[in-house]
Amino acid sequence: MSNRGIRIRRARTHNLQDLDVDVPRSQVVVFVGVSGSGKSSLVFDTIAAEAGYQLHETFPPYIRNRLPKWTRPEVGGIEGLSPVVVIDQRRLGGNARSTVGTITDTWTYLRLLFSRVSTPHVGESSHFSFNDPAGMCPTCSGIGEVVASAVDRFLDLDKSLREGAVLLPGFAVGGYWYTNFADIGVFDVDKPLRHWNRTERDALLYGIGSAGSPANRLPKGYQGVVERFERIYLRTSDDMNDRKKEALAKFTRSEMCPDCCGDRLNKASRAATVLGHTIGEMARMEVDELAELVTGVTDATVAPVVAALTERLQAMITIGLGYLHLGRATTTLSGGESQRIKTVKHLGSSLTEMLYVFDEPTVGLHTHDISSMTELLKQLRDKGNSVLVVEHDPAVMAIADQIIEVGPLAGAHGGTLVYQGSFRGLRTAGTATAAALSQRRPIKDDPRTPRGHITVADATRNNLKNVTVDIPTGVTTVLTGVAGSGKSSLASELVAQHDAVVIDQKQVSTNRRSTPITYTGIATPIRKVFARHNQVPAGLFSANSEGACPECKGLGTVSTDLAFMEDQETVCETCQGRRFTPEVLEYRVDGLSIADIDDLTITDAIDRLSDRTVTKALRHLDEVGLGYLRLGQPLTSLSGGECQRVKIAKELRDSTGPTLYILDEPTTGLHLRDIDTLLSHLDSLVDHGHTVVLIEHNLDVIRRADWIIDLGPGPGKHGGQILYQGPVAGITSTATAEALRETV
Ligand code: ADP
Ligand code: ADP
Ligand code: ZN
Ligand code: ZN
Repeated sequence: MSNRGIRIRRARTHNLQDLDVDVPRSQVVVFVGVSGSGKSSLVFDTIAAEAGYQLHETFPPYIRNRLPKWTRPEVGGIEGLSPVVVIDQRRLGGNARSTVGTITDTWTYLRLLFSRVSTPHVGESSHFSFNDPAGMCPTCSGIGEVVASAVDRFLDLDKSLREGAVLLPGFAVGGYWYTNFADIGVFDVDKPLRHWNRTERDALLYGIGSAGSPANRLPKGYQGVVERFERIYLRTSDDMNDRKKEALAKFTRSEMCPDCCGDRLNKASRAATVLGHTIGEMARMEVDELAELVTGVTDATVAPVVAALTERLQAMITIGLGYLHLGRATTTLSGGESQRIKTVKHLGSSLTEMLYVFDEPTVGLHTHDISSMTELLKQLRDKGNSVLVVEHDPAVMAIADQIIEVGPLAGAHGGTLVYQGSFRGLRTAGTATAAALSQRRPIKDDPRTPRGHITVADATRNNLKNVTVDIPTGVTTVLTGVAGSGKSSLASELVAQHDAVVIDQKQVSTNRRSTPITYTGIATPIRKVFARHNQVPAGLFSANSEGACPECKGLGTVSTDLAFMEDQETVCETCQGRRFTPEVLEYRVDGLSIADIDDLTITDAIDRLSDRTVTKALRHLDEVGLGYLRLGQPLTSLSGGECQRVKIAKELRDSTGPTLYILDEPTTGLHLRDIDTLLSHLDSLVDHGHTVVLIEHNLDVIRRADWIIDLGPGPGKHGGQILYQGPVAGITSTATAEALRETV
């Protein structure tokens, strides 16, 4: 069975057009095609989804209930699948308890090591677990940080109590806690807080004061706003939901735990040492250094533990993550770093005949690091696994046993098989990818002249070695260097020392009702056009109104709350996902109902809608290569790269005075062809007087920049220096310089 390959018949997920394809097993197969052509729909939403579903069905129901849910894809049939492991760029959870050490299991081995051979001898490995009551610091419960009140943000001094001077949720006028301080007859509820004296304010906030202060008149049991706030919101054992967290974020700040200073462990566990180092010190060492250190453990009784620990640490080094430290919270890792960490987990696995599915594994990798990633893909294959990769980088295409191109174009113009064969054969196949591969851009020979510069002075953030550097204004600058060399750290420092707009890949919105049209602000004009044409109120066409489907409240889907599991989402049966009542769906503009408009792609909408306000706003989205998105597609379904492009579109429309823009790998998820479009829009930002700073590995992007700042030479403590700054044509003798002059 293993050599028969994976037979996919009549795949119809998203834009796939009854696609038939046979994917060979036990090979590295790279899927290419323009952005939005359907690669992810085929690889993730069809192949991986069906493999996950089939595997899921083999478990007895009581186990199934504990596993993530897979929805069955729209496909005629798939044969020849095996258990699937999806290695995507989704960041590693929002869980503060997850660190590089816990996620790679290295922490487990380190704990074992300490439990066996540390001095003084402590006992069990749970004593070194910050997720176990036996080991955790009691002050921060093993988080290493505590959430503290930001009292300076609690009050609006220009208002009186009656006007809502206390800004905390639940404390506002009419709020549950308001009466607690406003109705006790002690404070002047009409005097703006600015005119209160210090003692009065302290009495309100802390319920304390000196003789003669209002505190002496406070009712027994009055706690003060701060104490009360901390009791209701901070010192509870409830897990906070996202909405509550967001509401409280304004009034709190994270501080390093005063007790363990970030080591997360209790006092006894913090004191134990191995080779003269505490476990906290080891958690702060770079993996390179730690791997070296633990070879010094000679005690034979722990040899297997040291061997297992070393193997994991070496795997991290191999994959270019030797610059990380085990104590690093996984929430601070970039998408690319998260993905490589996940890969480490599987490298150590001895399972074979698995199906590994990767989403752009080269994101965040310098040309220099890409070869270690491609080696790893080959290693997985050579152990007898099938490796499917969605990728735009020619260096990955070059190692493929087979290339499959989905296309020819995006959205409704894609979704078919346009090429299947070798990389060599692809070059002459006449497809969009073939065309892009044949155009190698030269280094820019007429860079723009900077209008001035801004200075980042004495930067020491993370690994930066007291760096002072001038960033030219009015041009495009690219920050380069191997992964971990300090590019993001320099960019963060730039943001800290100057105002800048960061256009990152974080989600645009967590609201499931947000779509490209609500985000671009054209939902309102569209509703007005419907109202005008049909002589009815515009409100009917809002998904929050009485015109919305009563069953799903205009969401088109209903989610079933399954208590401790992830919510299950299904298409609303009442409206079939069309979100409005049948009466509202009768109203038309240009022959289209409001739901038909949601189904149009941005490109189609520009062609078919006549209203100029509407089409003008949509054009910016089309220009950054997002024309294939549907107007009603929830923004929560966008990838990181797509979110970033949506933000660029918004900046193109909204920007006013000269602005400094910082973008982290804007080419993520972009086909070579779409990169051209993106670059011309970044160029237009610069032509309008703005300054653009990019962190980027893509060689074509680097070649087209006006200025380059190359960091290195190595990652982590081996980096953090400026190797070169100046026009791109002038760079020599660094890893980046070499990569620029190589041909693929
Ligand atoms: P690629 O991976 O090649 O960039 P995708 O498979 O992500 O392309 O997208 C192919 C098409 O399917 C696009 O038109 C995209 O807008 C659409 N699409 C992707 N995800 C969804 C979704 N969750 N719901 C509806 N349409 C989607
Ligand atoms: P690049 O962007 O070039 O990949 P970074 O600036 O992200 O490099 O990282 C430079 C060094 O700083 C690395 O050793 C990295 O582990 C460290 N570092 C980056 N972010 C953090 C953080 N939030 N906490 C601790 N160390 C960090
Ligand atoms: Zn602590
Ligand atoms: Zn409905």
